[in-house]
Amino acid sequence: MAYSDLHFKSGDQLSPQSILIWRIIQAAVWIVGAAILFCLLFYPAIGILLFWNILIPVAPALFVLGAGIWRNVCPLATTNLLPRHLGLSKRKRLSISQLGKLNLIAVITLFMIVPLRHAIFNSNGMATAILIISMAIIGIITGFFYEWKSVWCSGLCPVHPVEKLYGGNVLISIPNAHCDQCMNCVVPCPDSTPNIHPKSSVKTVYHKISGMLIAGGLPGFIWGWFHVADELKITTLRTFLSVYQMPLIGFSATLFLYIILVKFIPKKFERILISIFAATGVSCYYWYRIPSLFGFGNFADDGLLVNLTKTLPHWGIEAIIITITLLFFYLLVIRKENKKSWIIRPQYNNKQEKQDLKTPC
Ligand code: SF4
Repeated sequence: MAYSDLHFKSGDQLSPQSILIWRIIQAAVWIVGAAILFCLLFYPAIGILLFWNILIPVAPALFVLGAGIWRNVCPLATTNLLPRHLGLSKRKRLSISQLGKLNLIAVITLFMIVPLRHAIFNSNGMATAILIISMAIIGIITGFFYEWKSVWCSGLCPVHPVEKLYGGNVLISIPNAHCDQCMNCVVPCPDSTPNIHPKSSVKTVYHKISGMLIAGGLPGFIWGWFHVADELKITTLRTFLSVYQMPLIGFSATLFLYIILVKFIPKKFERILISIFAATGVSCYYWYRIPSLFGFGNFADDGLLVNLTKTLPHWGIEAIIITITLLFFYLLVIRKENKKSWIIRPQYNNKQEKQDLKTPC
């Protein structure tokens, strides 16, 4: 299959053949997602390994390199956009303020759910499956009412704030395999805005707070998260809530630092500051995650994929994580902004364009 098969036939419209190829890829990834969900429900040990120790560790790097790839094939997105693809959506549009509120809810949900991995999700396939199914139900229901990706993929999805932070200077920009025409349903559209970042839109106080929380708080939150062991026996509410302590400390520390720096640096340098925090966040993730995947982690078997402690020297792991850290800082901070969006915007729907000219968002 040639790259051109996945690209535009001419101008900004996908050819029928390209659409078919994308649908096949989406269906294949959807089947993989459904298989993982099946394993989570009925073979939890395998499901947890596939979901938390293979799929999730790949995601942050994919967001840095080409967030659009994930946005085109994410099984949850494919599921949640079904009502729109099948012509069953009422295709309502969100106001700017509603979108800001959804973005803030997404950030708070992310910070609430991730520590619970230590308390329940990392060791309980059924709980993880229920979490995924709940997100799909919310996404499908809202998809029956709202236009394209506005409510879920660019609004409520708790992964979306991370995409926005890490996907600020992607290497690859690909065609939009979901929206056939742009209805301008999200302003600014995270998929189609070059070098999008969490502070790209500060139209409402909700946008401002969500941007600040994710850019400032995520690096410390990740650091704190990796300093908590999986709790396999939770007997009290106190043990249950203890999983929040370290992530909250780390979150507060880097958020405080970010707020102070934003106050003192000239406005034009804020974008670089966000890139530095993004690179710190994703590097911190792999700094701890790679050792734990291969048996060199802080907490015995937590997050273990395959134990390489007998085959790989410790300095080998250190060399890998240092190299990866340098690579992320190069990609996100040192490299010039390349004006690429995650996804190339499809042609505008003419009617919508005219309406937007009359009533600008
Ligand atoms: S490309 Fe257009 S229609 Fe699709 S999500 Fe972005 S703004 Fe909405």
